[in-house]
Amino acid sequence: MNEATMEMTTTAVEIPANIEAQKLARKKAEKIALENNKLHKRLCRLVGQAIGDFNMIEEGDKVMVCLSGGKDSYALLDILMTLRERAPIHFDIVVVNLDQKQPNFPPEILPAYLTELGVAFHIENQDTYSIVKRLIPEGKTTCSLCSRLRRGILYRVADELGATKIALGHHRDDILETFFLNMFFGGKLKGMPAKLVSDDGKHMVIRPMAYVKEEDTERYAEVKGFPIIPCDLCGSQENLQRKQIKAMMRDWDKKFPGRVESIFSAMSNVAPSHLMDGKLFGFGDLKADGLANPMGDIAFDEEPCSTPTTFGATIPLQSV
Ligand code: SF4
Repeated sequence: MNEATMEMTTTAVEIPANIEAQKLARKKAEKIALENNKLHKRLCRLVGQAIGDFNMIEEGDKVMVCLSGGKDSYALLDILMTLRERAPIHFDIVVVNLDQKQPNFPPEILPAYLTELGVAFHIENQDTYSIVKRLIPEGKTTCSLCSRLRRGILYRVADELGATKIALGHHRDDILETFFLNMFFGGKLKGMPAKLVSDDGKHMVIRPMAYVKEEDTERYAEVKGFPIIPCDLCGSQENLQRKQIKAMMRDWDKKFPGRVESIFSAMSNVAPSHLMDGKLFGFGDLKADGLANPMGDIAFDEEPCSTPTTFGATIPLQSV
């Protein structure tokens, strides 16, 4: 074989291989784009559904979106902006970031991001970091004072901006973790509310991401390339008990698919008569009235387990 023939032979083999590789790469890119599109649709659907189920946003509302620079609050803002475009009602969004003057906090990232997004925003500069450092002895956990200070500031800013709702980026897994924390360590059956009046009685706090899984916000942040600001700048460690609960839930998710979803469904399907809280059900005044009741006691029979209702069946935007 001379040199020219050898060259032709090599080229003839390489071309189909390259075409094959290009086809595969194109297919892969299309698949990723499809998955990303599905993820965006799912987030819009679930956020819209939570907003509708809890009547979180109404005509004329001014929603103050608290943006920390973490994946969840970025996702919340992004999805709320999409829903606002499609909603049959009018509501405004104003984004607030509290710069707590933690060491190495990059102050330019959020203003640049929000300016490009074209959304109204306010950066509140308050050095709570120094206050916390001054008041809490070294080695003690700083989170409770820090969040108390942050809460007070956000309430004041909401007043100053005329916000009618304060939207936080907590998602389904935050709600479940809080539920387990309260149950395991606080002796309470209590989660994190999707909508509740603030503890000062003056503001309506909403959590539109209540139905969204954390793994979806993680992926969405990657897909969108949000400029994430790390949440450990203050040097405080994440609550160890919360960390354990998170690990427990991730483990369940792997070993027992559907368990976490079932527990979450249970939170909106409560039977006070089958628990033990006399403040929720009048056990003391209970009388047998002779009327059959499927919710009555079934003596020694085992409670039948039915498949829990899952979220996601309704079209959300009508209710936004
Ligand atoms: S982790 Fe740091 S910034 Fe967050 S609440 Fe705790 S002390 Fe505050």
